[in-house]
Amino acid sequence: MKIAVLGAGTYGSYVINSLIEKYPDAEITLFDVGDKNVKSEEQIGFYSKLKKAMYKGLTDGRFFGYGGASDKWGGQLLTYTDNDYHHPDAFMQGVINIDKARKDEMLAKFKIENKFPENHVSNELFTKTGVWLSALHRNFFHWFKIDKRQQVKIMNHSRVVRLESKNGKDIDAVVYTDGKSESKASFDYYFLTSGAFESSRILMSSGMMPEKVHFSDHLSMKVFKIKGSTVIGNEDFVFRMRGTSLITKRMIGEVTDVDADGKVAQKDYSFYVHPVFNLKFPFFVVMKEVLFKHHFELKYIWTALKDIPHCIAFAWAILAKRRMYVMDNEWFLYIDIENPSLESYISLSKEKDAFGVQGLDVYYDAGKETEFVFNEAKEDAIKHLTACNVKYDVLAEEINVQTCEDIYHPYGMFDFKDMNDYFTRWNNMLVVTTGCLSRSGGINPTAAMLPVVDEFIEKHLPNA
Ligand SMILES: Cc1cc2nc3c(=O)[nH]c(=O)nc-3n(C[C@H](O)[C@H](O)[C@H](O)COP(=O)(O)OP(=O)(O)OC[C@H]3O[C@@H](n4cnc5c(N)ncnc54)[C@H](O)[C@@H]3O)c2cc1C
Repeated sequence: MKIAVLGAGTYGSYVINSLIEKYPDAEITLFDVGDKNVKSEEQIGFYSKLKKAMYKGLTDGRFFGYGGASDKWGGQLLTYTDNDYHHPDAFMQGVINIDKARKDEMLAKFKIENKFPENHVSNELFTKTGVWLSALHRNFFHWFKIDKRQQVKIMNHSRVVRLESKNGKDIDAVVYTDGKSESKASFDYYFLTSGAFESSRILMSSGMMPEKVHFSDHLSMKVFKIKGSTVIGNEDFVFRMRGTSLITKRMIGEVTDVDADGKVAQKDYSFYVHPVFNLKFPFFVVMKEVLFKHHFELKYIWTALKDIPHCIAFAWAILAKRRMYVMDNEWFLYIDIENPSLESYISLSKEKDAFGVQGLDVYYDAGKETEFVFNEAKEDAIKHLTACNVKYDVLAEEINVQTCEDIYHPYGMFDFKDMNDYFTRWNNMLVVTTGCLSRSGGINPTAAMLPVVDEFIEKHLPNA
């Protein structure tokens, strides 16, 4: 079977590794718009225009080339369990079931184990432990050595423009361009892994998605400053080292929305409360710049030299105590919520990008419901902090979308009825992006789709 993978990023690389694990004789053609130098939206020449409210998910959260966003991401791997949603829809229930069954197998591919239990710490909140991949191993393309696989033919500088299909169910060909002229190629099966927004753009341009595609994302606010221990109740929230990875912990809850008459609207919105350390520690800030953004300036060495005592304490904490250093015993709790607005969407722009292809207009909205969800989440967090005698300062009384921090977890772009609908929406194509999830819940959701990929490749890939 001839397989095309459209995008050499996080999911594309994972898909290829899983395909080859299961089918060592697979014949795979990998299309990518970039190459080994990972570029931003502006550098690669894609176009998006923000028409309403602040949202940097396209301009600052997209990366192009081998590894895609995994070249710059946090690399925190988290999956769902039965605790995440009170009322998951049928598709999310399918994701939960597969995550539970295949999480260990997925994590083992990164040489990671996560057997930490989730604990209900109050009526509203439970804990979830995550693993932050080592900064040295977070680009999936490099981790899975995709360029060394003899089964893979890499077509770089090949921008997928659209897909051709006569009946909307079977993909007949992929149309791609090198920026000068268009070419076409046909395969038996296609994996569309060009990122949430670009995959949607490709499907819109191919007449396989509506003209307006809804999406949502998390909104994140720094809410509490805590002076003192990192222990809340019986749980220590300090990050711990395991090998070169970090073990993280957060608290997750859900807010149930009520309508104007005070009736339950039967909609739940997830939120998570997570610790952030060393915001005022210049050496730590520049270290993150170097590790995550691969950005180095000589003045960073001076930054470290100016702050030798804290740097030594940091090194001691990491190397000897195997835990995150907490400068001046001061740390912060952020609250991230699912943005409840249904008014955020993308559509094809009139303007064309550097490839002569229509880009995306982006409308991002945060309405009244957003304040409601944020305030309820904050109340649940305060109740727990108070019950545990934690002393805190509240830094954000209300949510302010303009000062919300950038989170890049787009979801809610498709409407898969259940897992079977997802696996069979197209006869010879699977779309793999976080946009497929109907909700993101209280996690950074990328890894939650990886077990679903394995399930599909092992049990459902037709004619493999
Ligand atoms: C700073 C940052 C930190 C993050 N931290 C986390 C985290 O800790 N945990 C987590 O779960 N998530 C995190 N995320 C989100 C996560 O990075 C994404 O959900 C994930 O990388 C998406 O994978 P993808 O394969 O869909 O897209 P990408 O990894 O971006 O891959 C898309 C690939 O497709 C290629 N491509 C794009 N368009 C075309 C086209 N038209 N033709 C051909 N090729 C194309 C690109 O070159 C790229 O290689 C973070 C994101 C950012 C930006």
